[in-house]
Amino acid sequence: MLLQRQVEWVRRSGADAAPLHLVANVEVANLSALVGVGGSVLLVALLLPLGLLRPILVNLAAGVGYAFTVWLNRRGNYRLSRSWVGSLFLLQALSLTFLLSSDSGVNVYLLCGIPVGFLLFAPEEPLTRAGAIALSVLAYGLSETRWFSVPVETISTGWLHAISYASLGSLFVGVAVIVERFGTVLKRLEARQRVLAATDELTGMASRRHLLDQANSMLRVAQRYGRDFSVALVDVDRFKAVNDEHGHLAGDRLLREVSACLDGNHRASDIVGRYGGEEFVLLLPETSPEVACVLAERTRKGIENLALNGGSGPASITISLGVAGLRPGEEVDLECLLNRADEALYQAKKSGRNRVHLWSGQVPASP
Ligand code: GH3
Ligand code: MG
Ligand code: MG
Repeated sequence: MLLQRQVEWVRRSGADAAPLHLVANVEVANLSALVGVGGSVLLVALLLPLGLLRPILVNLAAGVGYAFTVWLNRRGNYRLSRSWVGSLFLLQALSLTFLLSSDSGVNVYLLCGIPVGFLLFAPEEPLTRAGAIALSVLAYGLSETRWFSVPVETISTGWLHAISYASLGSLFVGVAVIVERFGTVLKRLEARQRVLAATDELTGMASRRHLLDQANSMLRVAQRYGRDFSVALVDVDRFKAVNDEHGHLAGDRLLREVSACLDGNHRASDIVGRYGGEEFVLLLPETSPEVACVLAERTRKGIENLALNGGSGPASITISLGVAGLRPGEEVDLECLLNRADEALYQAKKSGRNRVHLWSGQVPASP
């Protein structure tokens, strides 16, 4: 359990702060470092009984070097961290091939630069990506030349075979782990994008896009089953004056305070979000226009009595609300419903602000 948490910490290190298009690649760098440490430990375990000091030292040094990748990512050096972990992989595999010869099979590690190069570097970095892959292929070609064919260390053929199988096996396992995690990271990123699109940046409430999506589906359900559905458009009164007198930052803070109050004042089944600027929308399923007016009035009072925290802003603020509801059997689209709420809001403003107005216009006669 503890190990799992450590692995998760390493994997995510620096990734969340990375530019969105690099998040997955940064995680791959951290993962590659983890896999590198795992591979180095495995090789040390195999080499220890043979007492081969130099290859053991190479693996120990590489193991420490991999940890540096995570440090670089935590400091935001995303370009360097990925080049570093890739170079370390190549350097470690080449040194070991030189010491144990290409018959040991450790040079197959060099080939993993092909898949890992794709995962370490984003499509937006085609040159670095191509360079990393070309370097791996070149290094592999080099490791197959005669300079690497005679082992520097004295080692039996049996052990060479054992190291060869261990290298091949760990290579496949390592790449499989990285590819599997890459998929998970992509899914997480997708979920993060969805949340971002559904959230208004300033207030943290539902975004306009999310509101419209939700409103459309609520409207469909209400029309299909003949249920009530109402919407209320909320507009902060004389908000421009707040900006003009207290500055934009005070205006932003006030919008956050208003949104927190609106958020805390609705039923669990309702949705409230920022429609744009200083306008908000309440979506009220299973709510008749009359009940919606009662809720809107409660909301209005809540804002009127809101104790504003910002010392630099106004002492109080008011809102006006326009309410429109679906009439039984009516086949209107969302745009029409929102327009009605907007008309009602206009009336509320015209008749003095700080009030609720219910749309009561004529329904166009059916053809
Ligand atoms: P009314 O009572 O008629 O609604 O008057 P108002 O001043 O609230 O309406 P108006 O539409 O004239 O002004 C809205 C102001 O809201 C203008 C705009 O600068 C401000 N605003 C819109 N979005 C933001 C925002 O995100 N932050 C801040 N600080 N101000 C914003
Ligand atoms: Mg407005
Ligand atoms: Mg306004």
